[in-house]
Amino acid sequence: MNRKWILLAICSMVLSLLAGCGTDGSKATNDGKLQVVTTYSIIYDIVKNIGGDRVEIHSLAPVGSNPHEYDPLPADVGKTSDADAVFYNGLNLEAGNSWFEKLLETTGKSGEDAPVFQLSDGVVPKFLTTEGKEGEADPHAWLDIRNGIMYATNVKVALIELDPGHADVYEQNAKAYIGKLEQLHTDAVRQFNEIPEDQRYLVTSEGAFKYFSAAYNFQAGYIWEINSENQGSPDQISQVIELIKDKDIKVLFLETSIDPRSMEMVSNETEIPIGGKVFTDSIGKPGEDGDSYLSMMEWNIQTILEQLKKHS
Ligand SMILES: [Zn+2]
Repeated sequence: MNRKWILLAICSMVLSLLAGCGTDGSKATNDGKLQVVTTYSIIYDIVKNIGGDRVEIHSLAPVGSNPHEYDPLPADVGKTSDADAVFYNGLNLEAGNSWFEKLLETTGKSGEDAPVFQLSDGVVPKFLTTEGKEGEADPHAWLDIRNGIMYATNVKVALIELDPGHADVYEQNAKAYIGKLEQLHTDAVRQFNEIPEDQRYLVTSEGAFKYFSAAYNFQAGYIWEINSENQGSPDQISQVIELIKDKDIKVLFLETSIDPRSMEMVSNETEIPIGGKVFTDSIGKPGEDGDSYLSMMEWNIQTILEQLKKHS
């Protein structure tokens, strides 16, 4: 364990001790609610939809940030230590600098019996193809709504296991929520079928759309394949420019959680416009477009449809 993690562990112990002063040792703000930690905002939102009033959730990587790499703060360590459940994506999402693995170790949540749940459990993984990363799972499974439904089901099962007395609440919440996701998926398939297949090309900065592309019959292009690698190198830029010319791509897309400069450079070089923003690794800020998993997917679908029709 390096010095930073030792310091975080000490900070967390001090915070826990302070929080414990003057109470009888039970969690003062608990109200019987489950204390939950999620690794990033998309999972936060899914857990909120299934857990409703029964859960109090702390999300680690904040809205708008990149969960591939995250530096936990002392408060994150304290919350994770105290959590009744920790939910994460898996499939190498939280793998940058092993930040999540170190957090679990530091907070005593790395044992086999620890209440740590991988929400991509059951997903059929897709793999990276970049040299040196071949065979590593691509984490962006949630961009296929059918996988999002699997995440929601996994949350429901975990919450019932932890809090069986309120199983009916979780069942009802899950039923209503999954119904909405199923409807959105069905609508998306129908709407995308209106676009000729050879025009269903999606070019983004990070290659986050493998699962999405398989679900909705798209081809995907990107500048770099995954955020934890070199981003926007001259080689990557020239490769995507070649692809854009080769496939006669008419419009580009930019992710909300990614530095826009590389895609802007590609757009300037090719004179192909950036048609709109899409959500990949984060939901939108509260009150703004795409501020939930459901509405970010809805936004993505409508933006892609609109732009492909406009530039066809
Ligand atoms: Zn990503």
